[in-house]
Amino acid sequence: MAPFRWDDPLYTLPAMIRAVVFDVGECLVDESREWAGWAAWLGVPRHTFSAVFGAALARGLDPREAFEVFRPGFDMALEREKRTAAGEPEWFGENDLYPDVRITIRVMRQAGMWLGIAANQSPATTQVLRTLFSGYAGLVLTSSDLGVAKPDPRFFELLVEELEVAPEEILYVGDRLDHDIAPAASVGLRTALIRRGPWATIQRDHPDAERLPTMRIDGLREVPERVAAFNEAMAAGAATGGIA
Ligand SMILES: [Mg+2]
Repeated sequence: MAPFRWDDPLYTLPAMIRAVVFDVGECLVDESREWAGWAAWLGVPRHTFSAVFGAALARGLDPREAFEVFRPGFDMALEREKRTAAGEPEWFGENDLYPDVRITIRVMRQAGMWLGIAANQSPATTQVLRTLFSGYAGLVLTSSDLGVAKPDPRFFELLVEELEVAPEEILYVGDRLDHDIAPAASVGLRTALIRRGPWATIQRDHPDAERLPTMRIDGLREVPERVAAFNEAMAAGAATGGIA
C-alpha cells in the first residue's frame, strides 16, 4: 500500500471558512460621532466637512486631505493630542455600534463560528474593543499590538500567523477596498466587502468592488448565511471531486 501523502488529491479538502474576522470603523462602529467631532474641532459645519471629506475619497485621496482644505498643515496626531487634553479623547462605545452588530455576533457564536476583530486602532480603543467584545471575540488584534497597520499586507500575514489556520480559512469583513479587501486578498484571505460608510458607498461601482471580494454584503446580518452557503458549496465541490 502506498504511503499516506497529504498532497494526494484524495486528501486535499477544500478550504472552508473557519474564522470570521471583522474590521472596526464602518464595519462594527458607526464613525459618525467621531467625524462630527472633528468638524466641530475645526469649526466647520458637519455637512460641509462631510462633503469635502467625500470629495477627497472620491478622488482617491487620504481623508486627511479634507482637513488640509480647512486648516493647511493640519497635524492629525498633534490635534488628537490636543483634543484628548481638552477632554475629547478618541473613543467609541456600545451606542456607536451599528445596530446589526450584537445580534449577528450572538447568532454566529451560537452557530459555533469563531470570531475575531482586527483593525487599525489606538491602544485606548483597542482596550475598548476588548471590553465591548469580551466573551464574543476570540481575538482582538490591532495595529497598536502589531506595530504594523493596514493597508500593509504584513498586517494580514501576522493575523494569519496568530490564528494558526490557512489564509483561505479566514473571512475578513471590511468596508474599504484599499485598506481591507485588497491587502487581505493579496495574502490569500477570503473577503466580504460591506456596503456602508463613506468609503464603501462612494466606491460601490468601482471595478475592484465587483472583482476582488469573495462576497459583497449590505449588512452584517447576511454573514452567517453567506458563510454557511459558501461552505456548503465548497463541500459539494469536494463531494463531486472538484474544488471551487
Ligand atoms: Mg473600516
